[in-house]
Amino acid sequence: METLTERLTAVRERIAAAARRVNRDPATIRLVGVTKAHPVEVIRAALDAGLSDIGENRVQEAEAKMAALAAERHRLTWHLIGHLQTNKAKKAAMLFDMVHSVDSLRLAQILDRYAAEVRREAQGRLPILLQVNVSGEATKSGFALRGWETHPDIYERFCADVEQILALPHLDVRGLMTIAPWRPDPEQARPVFRAVRRLRDDLAQRFPAAAWRDLSMGMTDDFEVAIEEGATIVRVGRAIFGER
Ligand SMILES: *Cc1c(COP(=O)(O)O)cnc(C)c1O
Repeated sequence: METLTERLTAVRERIAAAARRVNRDPATIRLVGVTKAHPVEVIRAALDAGLSDIGENRVQEAEAKMAALAAERHRLTWHLIGHLQTNKAKKAAMLFDMVHSVDSLRLAQILDRYAAEVRREAQGRLPILLQVNVSGEATKSGFALRGWETHPDIYERFCADVEQILALPHLDVRGLMTIAPWRPDPEQARPVFRAVRRLRDDLAQRFPAAAWRDLSMGMTDDFEVAIEEGATIVRVGRAIFGER
């Protein structure tokens, strides 16, 4: 059995190799270890192995783990990566360092309101990513953007939402997040990642006041392809922590 440290090292090496294939600096890619369904000891072990960015997809589960790891708060960066229900938005705004899964204008507005209410001054604005669904896969949440390149109405509707989200004073829009449909061959995810990157480039031109720096895309089965297509954040669970 490989140890967690060995698996983590192997993932980091694969990240670096993928980055170098496309002349990117591996240091610009952030690895988020996805610990959903794993006990808090696994997060402690990850921290000891040098991984401090932790992704969870449920607010309640994360809250319990955060409580158990309160003494390590300064060493951990918590990422919310799963769909967020509006009735959990207050907790999410309070607890997480970044929310990857903002998938509607309404959710952004609610998060903004709570960020103003519950975040301490020193925390600054709440960093968020807009989750987009460019493949049209019905089981994936995200702003519905399938066909945005050929249907200006789809893109314009999204841009109208983006404009309003960018005006929310307590949120800091950092970029986009996506989940590619699962396919046996990771190469099949490439067009999805490429489309999300094009979308990001378009948004950066249209709304230059925001940074649009981050692309959170790529998981255990497809993170290398995602990095080749411009991912700045990869969210990896099974390759580091084993099957859930
Ligand atoms: C579970 C999950 C991951 C990690 O998936 P693995 O296949 O275990 O790497 C990444 N992103 C999201 C949104 C997830 O829910």
